[in-house]
Amino acid sequence: MGHGDDIMATGMAKGAKARGKRIAFGDGNRIIWGPFSRDIFRNNPNIAHPGQERDKDIEWVKYYKGNRGYNKSGGNHWVWNYDFKTKPGEIFFGQDDVGYCLGSNVIFIEPNVPNKPCAPNKQWPLARWKEVAEELELAGFNIVQPEYGGPNRIAEGIRTNNFRDGMALLKQAKLAILPEGGLHHAAAALGVPAVVLFGGFVPPSVLGYHNHINLTGGAVACGSFTRCQHCLEAMDKITVDDVLKGVEACQ
Ligand SMILES: [Zn+2]
Repeated sequence: MGHGDDIMATGMAKGAKARGKRIAFGDGNRIIWGPFSRDIFRNNPNIAHPGQERDKDIEWVKYYKGNRGYNKSGGNHWVWNYDFKTKPGEIFFGQDDVGYCLGSNVIFIEPNVPNKPCAPNKQWPLARWKEVAEELELAGFNIVQPEYGGPNRIAEGIRTNNFRDGMALLKQAKLAILPEGGLHHAAAALGVPAVVLFGGFVPPSVLGYHNHINLTGGAVACGSFTRCQHCLEAMDKITVDDVLKGVEACQ
């Protein structure tokens, strides 16, 4: 995972500064950040930066790539740790962040999933995404989609130059419809209600949030690293109506 891991870290660090601490994510000796950490942790007073390992207010949390706690490799699939429960993170926007002004009644939608071998397991059929967007437009919502060069555009695109811009855009929405991934963690951190298309890859009881509508198609998560028939069937079981009902329940 990418951005989602760092957003989950911000949930673990919540409140540290108020206790006089900062959280060091690493192995107890070295702070280990990933490629997106700097962006996600920007302005966050609860998190220590690489190089601050020996500061007096450091509290270690052994959460880093290869040691995330919510899963471990089972060879060709993830073995999920059902004792792990993610908590909403937090994002600290500052003067240097882009601001968007979208008006009310905005639904943020993103049909694209990152291009990884497990991508087919996370992809809800595009024709259904389109149908959902059309139905909601007819119902009077303003549907927006981040425009960053993703392969499929199904609604008005609004330019975002990086994930942080995407989060700033998401923050303006009344609610969001998202695949399981970085953006659903962002929605939870920003307090944006969301309908999340989980399907059969990841269990919502581990990586989902209570205040979201999490759709699995009734599947038990398999974690398969590559295209999986069970996951395709799980996605196929999630109907347009399920998503529209989720939107209704979110409001
Ligand atoms: Zn599967």
